[in-house]
Amino acid sequence: MSKASCNQDWEAVIGLEVHNQLATDSKLFCGCSVAYGSEPNHHTCPVCLALPGSLPVLNRRAVENAIRAALATHCTVNERSVFARKNYFYPDLPKGYQISQFEEPLATGGWVEIPTDGESGEGEARRIRLTRIHMEEDAGKSIHDAADVTRVDLNRTGVPLIEIVSEPDLRSPEEAGAYLRALREILRYVEVSDADLEKGQFRCDANVSVRRRGESELGTRTELKNLNSFRFVEDAVRAEIERQIEVIEEGGEIRQATLRYDPDRGRIHVMRLKEDAHDYRYFPDPDLIPLAIEAEAVRAARESLPELPEDKRARFQSEYGLSAYDAGQLTASRGLADFFEAAARAHGAPKSVANWVQRDVLAALKEREVELEATAITPEALSMLVKMVDDGRVTARNARPLVAVLVETGGDPEALVQERGLEAVSDTGLLESVADEVIAANPKAVDGFRGGDPKVLNFLMGQVMKKTQGKADPGQVRELLARKLGG
Ligand SMILES: [Zn+2]
Repeated sequence: MSKASCNQDWEAVIGLEVHNQLATDSKLFCGCSVAYGSEPNHHTCPVCLALPGSLPVLNRRAVENAIRAALATHCTVNERSVFARKNYFYPDLPKGYQISQFEEPLATGGWVEIPTDGESGEGEARRIRLTRIHMEEDAGKSIHDAADVTRVDLNRTGVPLIEIVSEPDLRSPEEAGAYLRALREILRYVEVSDADLEKGQFRCDANVSVRRRGESELGTRTELKNLNSFRFVEDAVRAEIERQIEVIEEGGEIRQATLRYDPDRGRIHVMRLKEDAHDYRYFPDPDLIPLAIEAEAVRAARESLPELPEDKRARFQSEYGLSAYDAGQLTASRGLADFFEAAARAHGAPKSVANWVQRDVLAALKEREVELEATAITPEALSMLVKMVDDGRVTARNARPLVAVLVETGGDPEALVQERGLEAVSDTGLLESVADEVIAANPKAVDGFRGGDPKVLNFLMGQVMKKTQGKADPGQVRELLARKLGG
């Protein structure tokens, strides 16, 4: 945590507005493709180019996804919502207005749970309230090239978004990051969005103000625009909190403004002094009738939702006896949670499988910077490998590198262990003779042990493990040596 954000005198108040692209094939009001990375201006038509006489037709799938997102965040889906025109002039906005929702949004209320580091340990949850979720269309993209020419690409114009507005419940840059991660996880769980940050499908504006601790009134807020990575959000919010505290402590005043964060220099720039909402001259779009959502549609959507991350976390704790922290890690994505569950069921001892997933599988994924779904490892293979370890057929030390092999190329753990000659030495006769050899070759160490230095046993164990290429069970070796040395 930064100096300023955990300052004794000051408290930060942060609210986030997330723009999230809904997973659809076509745009919000026309049939154009939303495919990413196409030639500029190839996915356009009279509607999204705003040619005279063209009329918008609402995309049903986008509405269904928006409803799912609202339900997954515990919002109330309103029976009636209204599309409104948000008027402003910008080169990448061909209509001269953006179709959004203003006075009557799709959904209101709701919350997202974030983990906190409470005193009783990790994994406690805190609810961040949502103000609203509304639907809107995206604008186009201005591309500033090296020759100082600005070009406009309208492929993105009309792509369906939801804007998710939180209450100013966040108190630190870290909480802002945790909120965004939790929200993204939920949207991906319920499959309403890929929320791919690199493709700009999950972008965030942050409203930041500070106040002296103990005060209940909100300070003047500024808005940081278009933050497109979790780290930028945290860095930008931290920088802005520090800037505001400095301004006030030096006797200055915070002015309401729209800001841009320069991640390269870690600096905040003022884009413009803030317009108020009425500057946009919102009014209901006369081309679109109010959106009526029947209770039946909401009920059907609710029934079709998968288990939410927070419910899965609670269930993993009660059903598998995992700690809140472990359950949190294992539900970080739906794919990972499903993988763990399948492996745990195949194996029968969830706690044991959880350790292997958290330690070895996650490490292998991190090292390769891949998602679990893109790798060759199956839950069955992992459960077989862990079983072999539990049965003493291969030592944990020799099994661990095989997890990376399974991630990389897949395969049958049984065959991998055999091919590599990693079967554990369980032959007591063989172990006895190796132990005898080691004892005979290290008279000094043996004297040390008998002289009362217990650490020597570890050295002798190491020698036996070395001679058996790590294939002996350490517990068994320790017992054997202790017995032979009369300890
Ligand atoms: Zn179009």
